[in-house]
Amino acid sequence: MRPWEANIRRVVPYVPGDQPKGSRLIKLNTNENPYPPAPGVAKALREMDPEAFRKYPDPSSSCLVEALAARYGVDKERIFVGVGSDDVIGMAFLTFFNSEKPVLFPDISYSFYPVWADLFGIPHKTPALDGEFKIRPEDYYQENGGVVFPNPNAPTGIFMPLNQVEDILRHNRDVVVIVDEAYIDFGGTSALPLTEKYENLLVVQTFSKSRAMAGMRIGFAVGHPDLIRALSDVKYSYNSYTMNLPSQILGAEAVKDQVYFQEITSRIIATRERAKERLGALGFTFPDSMTNFLFVTHERASARELFAALKREQIYVRYFDQPRLDNSLRITIGTDGEMEALYAFLENYLKTV
Ligand SMILES: *Cc1c(COP(=O)(O)O)cnc(C)c1O
Repeated sequence: MRPWEANIRRVVPYVPGDQPKGSRLIKLNTNENPYPPAPGVAKALREMDPEAFRKYPDPSSSCLVEALAARYGVDKERIFVGVGSDDVIGMAFLTFFNSEKPVLFPDISYSFYPVWADLFGIPHKTPALDGEFKIRPEDYYQENGGVVFPNPNAPTGIFMPLNQVEDILRHNRDVVVIVDEAYIDFGGTSALPLTEKYENLLVVQTFSKSRAMAGMRIGFAVGHPDLIRALSDVKYSYNSYTMNLPSQILGAEAVKDQVYFQEITSRIIATRERAKERLGALGFTFPDSMTNFLFVTHERASARELFAALKREQIYVRYFDQPRLDNSLRITIGTDGEMEALYAFLENYLKTV
């Protein structure tokens, strides 16, 4: 080993889903939205003057923060924006999880949590989901240094009713609780109003799924102004200009169009409900998803083999090669046309196994 290698911080990175190139493929592997962003986004993009790129962007992203404040009916002091919710959640780990006691998150959950915990040296403990892949609120009543979980959870798609979220909050008054609502717009009920009642609750959402803007990298958190101030202080201690100007402008445009947002999210929900029927009829089982994906298992078909067969057909889904998940596939809800192509393939495939 060369001497300087001893000083390298070694980490096991998060592995994102593939971003395969090509036009004929059907991409159902990273929970992107199959529809374009709101029309106002395209218009604002056309009208953007590159002259504005000469200067640094507004470090507080105020146009985006104001649009979010208006949309969600909260003061702008209660909103923090970041470069995707990954940036927001990573920053929140760094800001709020500084205890000797372990931070708690489910064993089956967003696989970025253990990566941030390891990167920042945060002790953590991962209570197991129950036999039906559900989070057991009582697992989060023990002493801890903070709590984080997605609601709905990923990759299961299961939504935890708000009374259970509140049970967890009631038992955790002395630590920060982060609820990661990446998929909340597909039928769940947001814990956002609870941020008024619980000063230690941070609700995080993203533009990557329901707002069809994964490529713009926009996420945000809502919480008590003291939480937001603490997050901002950490952000300004690391990089003042995280969010670029186009993301700020285009993100604000996306938030303003509530009608289009309703239209595409309800279309995805309708396609998902049909997918439950169609995949169920083909013999697949899955937890009842409130997200834009289904986590499916088939009695006869090995998930690993089906994943490979789908890939050969240029249909990309997500496979997790880890205990308890390795016989399931996470399938993002695409357009009706994409889903029909998937059902047609599966129908034939299942005749061969
Ligand atoms: C997609 C996702 C995120 C991160 O999304 P960004 O693109 O970084 O906003 C965070 N949490 C969960 C559970 C997700 O599925």
